[in-house]
Amino acid sequence: MNIPNTTNKRIVIIGGGFAGIALAKKLRNKNLQVVLLDKHNYHTFQPLLYQVATGGLEAGSIAYPIRKVIQEYKDFYFRLTTVAEIDTVNQKVISEIGELKYDYLVIATGSKTNYFGNKDIERYSMAMKTIPQSLNIRSLILENFEQAVLIKDISEKNCLINFVLVGGGPTGVELAGALAEMKREILQKDYPDLDINKMQINLVQSGDRILNTMSEKSSKTAEDFLENLGVKIWKNVHVLNYDGRTITTNSDLTFETATVIWTAGVKGALVSGLDGQSLVDNVKRIRVNQFNQVKGYENIFALGDIAMMELDEFPQGHPMMAQPALQQGRLLGENIVKLINNQPMIPFEYKDKGAMATIGRNKAVVDLPNYHFSGIFAWFVWMFVHLFSLIGFKNKAVVFLNWVYNYIVFDREGRLIIRPYKKKSFVSFTSDEV
Ligand SMILES: Cc1cc2nc3c(=O)[nH]c(=O)nc-3n(C[C@H](O)[C@H](O)[C@H](O)COP(=O)(O)OP(=O)(O)OC[C@H]3O[C@@H](n4cnc5c(N)ncnc54)[C@H](O)[C@@H]3O)c2cc1C
Repeated sequence: MNIPNTTNKRIVIIGGGFAGIALAKKLRNKNLQVVLLDKHNYHTFQPLLYQVATGGLEAGSIAYPIRKVIQEYKDFYFRLTTVAEIDTVNQKVISEIGELKYDYLVIATGSKTNYFGNKDIERYSMAMKTIPQSLNIRSLILENFEQAVLIKDISEKNCLINFVLVGGGPTGVELAGALAEMKREILQKDYPDLDINKMQINLVQSGDRILNTMSEKSSKTAEDFLENLGVKIWKNVHVLNYDGRTITTNSDLTFETATVIWTAGVKGALVSGLDGQSLVDNVKRIRVNQFNQVKGYENIFALGDIAMMELDEFPQGHPMMAQPALQQGRLLGENIVKLINNQPMIPFEYKDKGAMATIGRNKAVVDLPNYHFSGIFAWFVWMFVHLFSLIGFKNKAVVFLNWVYNYIVFDREGRLIIRPYKKKSFVSFTSDEV
């Protein structure tokens, strides 16, 4: 990997997400050599991916170059690579660009989409965990509309403009709201030759309420907001399969659709070498103690979404959200220095700052630890928190200006098919009128 030898301790961090970057910032100028590895050369602000998918923001405004974060730090290195394996015996990581020895290893690889073993759903549905995936969704939505204007067959046409979102968590809810606004503000103006009333947005949730990690009040409010925007919510429905055209469920309900967006589950983005049964839980998160140390290893840590810290208060580990990742990353920055200096480490305690979701213009729900609110004030709080959390002044400014522009003129400039997406499908929708 062409990293200089050093007499300082070498810390290797896999993953430049919320946890990895928070840790890297804490380790700057500490007389340590830090090597950050990521398969992307940018940090992704995942909470705004749905806005990229629906044309509200350009991809660049929610990404930040990792090299720019560390460019001023001494003895810090970034390498663009996917880590394939961890060799705990020889203390090295193995990737396509070579191997690297570590003194301390931090796994902050986040999570990936969980299809629960269903290969058809994995093959035919769309995921939204990365920027390229969001751009795929954006292209597919627009390509479906372009194709629908060419087709006479009504059932084919309806299939192309029927969108099914599986998973009623914050991602599904935010995406459903944004699609509904896109329909109202953009698509009906851009495609006057289509009957926009035929566009359907279906949100399918296996449980009995959407946003089931938030308060009942917030989930009911979000449901009302979405229904007012024309989203159809299907609760207690389990999707069984999707063959590229038809969704089957545990009841008689089926959907004919060219687009399924799957947000129904995540699992840890494990790297082999640390994936033994005793180390991981049922959603492939690595078991760690309260110092984020991987069970059985003093010098290997896991942080953020990939870490499962089982505590009485959090029997399933911490929520897979940005705050636990940030807080764990910052604390580990202090603890690694303490460990090297033979000082006692500080156990992690999660400070719950609440949860929020936006449904659309002037509509959001916020759960603070002891207080829940919704509506326009919640929407402003949501915007402020997200703007504040973005990395980089330029990104904050660009996102803010975009939001102001979109709010005033009811527009989304990002509705561009820059990178066409070729859907994997056994059904080809043929245009009979070109
Ligand atoms: C669509 C969406 C919306 C969300 N909305 C919210 C929200 O509103 N609020 C909230 O709190 N949370 C939200 N989350 C969750 C939040 O983004 C995650 O909890 C958070 O990103 C976890 O941080 P992390 O550092 O553990 O992982 P990540 O931020 O996912 O970072 C992991 C990094 O590891 C890299 N990586 C993975 N595997 C490898 C490998 N083998 N080799 C090299 N690099 C690798 C990845 O490229 C990535 O950069 C959302 C997530 C999604 C997908």
